[in-house]
Amino acid sequence: MIDLHSHTTASDGSLSPDELVALAVSRGLEAIAITDHDTFEGYEQATPFAAKAGLELVRGIELNSRLERPGDRTRWVHILSYFPNSKPADSFVAWLRTQQAERRDRNRRLAQKLQDQGIAVTVEEVEAKGRSLAGRPHFARLLVEKGYVGNIEEAFRRYIGEDAPAFVERDSPDTPGIMRIIRDGGGVPVVAHPVRVGLPHDDAERGWLRSLKDEGLLGLEVIHSEQDASLQQYYGALAKELGLIPTGGSDFHGTIKPDIELGAGRNGNVRVPYEVLTGIKRISGEVS
Ligand code: AMP
Ligand code: ZN
Ligand code: FE
Ligand code: FE
Repeated sequence: MIDLHSHTTASDGSLSPDELVALAVSRGLEAIAITDHDTFEGYEQATPFAAKAGLELVRGIELNSRLERPGDRTRWVHILSYFPNSKPADSFVAWLRTQQAERRDRNRRLAQKLQDQGIAVTVEEVEAKGRSLAGRPHFARLLVEKGYVGNIEEAFRRYIGEDAPAFVERDSPDTPGIMRIIRDGGGVPVVAHPVRVGLPHDDAERGWLRSLKDEGLLGLEVIHSEQDASLQQYYGALAKELGLIPTGGSDFHGTIKPDIELGAGRNGNVRVPYEVLTGIKRISGEVS
């Protein structure tokens, strides 16, 4: 078994890259992809540990994009990108730096908006938790620690979630735009946890994915901790129908999401066979 969606302390996971490698080995996984938000730093740090442990490590990343549809609110869509055979192009790395700067700026604006609402949270405190690429889960933990909310879920619901009063938008590319950026960079773009996009499972979702395929989309994350067996079956059939490769992973974050296990997901709902990685490698070789 493998796991193609995991996070380290380089973004908002709680395990360091070497701890994540050790966990993957102890769980008997054949391969993992590290897919931190907006950075390859965790992957790069994990590389020597994985080599020593004999674990196959795949370079991945999770990126943010905005989906604008006529008559609909803005939706925020996570796109995974895999680079199984080669390093990303210089243009991609340069673009990534703009996204990292944008994330830092978003964090400053988010801290300010919370302060405006009487919440004593500074960006320095958040960065002390999550370093410069801190994310909203770090804000959420701080809000819990300071007693403003009882748990992480409540922090998102009452303050920093998409529909909450302190939410600030990020300046992210739109979904077609990010397809071109990833493909030009040599990556394999995959729509992450499609259930979270929140489109009804009918022609709305099908049509959107089909149009995105025309822009360069190659895969769909069929298996994910937040997708139960029937949804995995549904997305598996949809991927087949649209000619997208099915991928999967737990979205492991460590103690930030304590109910999700590496290589196993939530209550064992994630089981990803090695063939899934073979599919990614094959398509990566064909398109590059
Ligand atoms: P960021 O990339 O910094 O905007 O943070 C986004 C991350 O916050 C996502 O990857 C999720 O892991 C987490 N997240 C978003 N919404 C929620 C929620 N309602 N409850 C818990 N975690 C959430
Ligand atoms: Zn995350
Ligand atoms: Fe995500
Ligand atoms: Fe993730």
